[in-house]
Amino acid sequence: MSPLLKTRFAPSPTGRLHLGNIRTALFNWLLARKAGGVFLLRLEDTDAMRGHEKYAAALAEDLRWLGLQWDEGPATGGTHGPYAQSERGEIYKGHFARLEQQGLAYPCFCTEHELAVERKLAVARHLPPRYSGKCRTLPPDAVQARFAGGLPATLRFRVPAARKVSFDDKVRGPQVFDTADIGDFVIRRSDGTPAFFFCNALDDALMGVTLVVRGEDHLTNTPRQLLLLEALGLPLPDYAHIALVVGDDGAPLSKRSGSKSVEELREAGYLPAALHNYLARLGHTYEDNALLSLDQLATGFAVERLHRAPARFDETQLRHWQREAVLLAPVETVWGWMGAAAHRLVPAASRDAFIECVRGNLLVPADALHWARVVFGDAPALSQPANEAAQTAGGGFFAAALKALEQHGTDFKALAETLKAATGKTGKALYQPLRAALTGELDGPEMAKLLPLIGLERACARVAKYEK
Ligand code: GLU
Repeated sequence: MSPLLKTRFAPSPTGRLHLGNIRTALFNWLLARKAGGVFLLRLEDTDAMRGHEKYAAALAEDLRWLGLQWDEGPATGGTHGPYAQSERGEIYKGHFARLEQQGLAYPCFCTEHELAVERKLAVARHLPPRYSGKCRTLPPDAVQARFAGGLPATLRFRVPAARKVSFDDKVRGPQVFDTADIGDFVIRRSDGTPAFFFCNALDDALMGVTLVVRGEDHLTNTPRQLLLLEALGLPLPDYAHIALVVGDDGAPLSKRSGSKSVEELREAGYLPAALHNYLARLGHTYEDNALLSLDQLATGFAVERLHRAPARFDETQLRHWQREAVLLAPVETVWGWMGAAAHRLVPAASRDAFIECVRGNLLVPADALHWARVVFGDAPALSQPANEAAQTAGGGFFAAALKALEQHGTDFKALAETLKAATGKTGKALYQPLRAALTGELDGPEMAKLLPLIGLERACARVAKYEK
């Protein structure tokens, strides 16, 4: 039996989650869900930045709002905790000691300045800017003397010479790296904190992660991480490096190229289902073009269907899924989403009919408020083109419309037929002035559904204004 699939999301809580991060989280969640496996959340909070706690709370809130609940991790718990790297210092200590004892890691006293000079020289000689190995062979007494002199030291992993590291990336196919291109790398900073390569790989192994799905910007980290895990005799996860999301400029999505945080998207009124459906299709193919639930998205998700080419962020597509999400959401959800200002305008008895009538015309909650005002508010001011349409129709048209309204009530079909017979107008010439006078707009939800909501009294008053 193959082991349980365990995926993870390992954000550094240094800012709000953006579209790119949540796509990674979503992919991992979908894969775990599909396989009946485990989705783990780990906080990579070992750097010296401030505000980790605030951002950790915010990212938990964002993930929950998106419905991407983790099976193991902070707050949820599990048997592989703690799940914040800042609380795993003792675990790292033990593994640093093991590597040092086996001669697989050594202290390095090179200063930032020395390293920068070395890098510059290497670049000038067209060599890869890797660590020269200067402290690699320091004799033990020299090491002791430096420590005794209080010199700060990092801990470097001793990369084995002349070896190939290969792995089969689940998205990018077979990968081979030569250790000759990899310099000995820092696994513990001089302030004692673990470096990314180290704690990220170690925790994946110790937490039983079996598949790492992460951005392709980490691809070149993987050989280093595999060497580390091998040295520690720990299990190696599979890796899938996914193409990054790029903006219109072809550069990785950034705030400047329109990437919004989950918080901003939520505040703008985007629904989780819109984000799920947009992001799950960003660089991944589904056969089904309908709005899918998270579980349906999970069923159709496969690593093999992930594209290698960069995924281009397309706001039009995001809006498309938002419209679909509003169209198909439960009435209760749409109602809550509309917000208090719309709630005050819509009479309780008309709530469901109003939602069914306007939901096809909504992108953001402000649109719902707009239609609530149009339907239940005072006579709407006419937009410029609507005004023109109403003026061109002339007073006789509206006098006939008023009569037809009195005759048929809010039965729009009957009203239109009577008006057509009375005025000889058809098509646009018939419908546009009517819609203009009744709603102030030339476009919008179906009139047959709108008119009963507007009600006879308001409809007559609006039409009467143009009668002369
Ligand atoms: N903390 C890392 C990041 O946010 C995790 C990378 C990974 O998924 O391995 O980029």
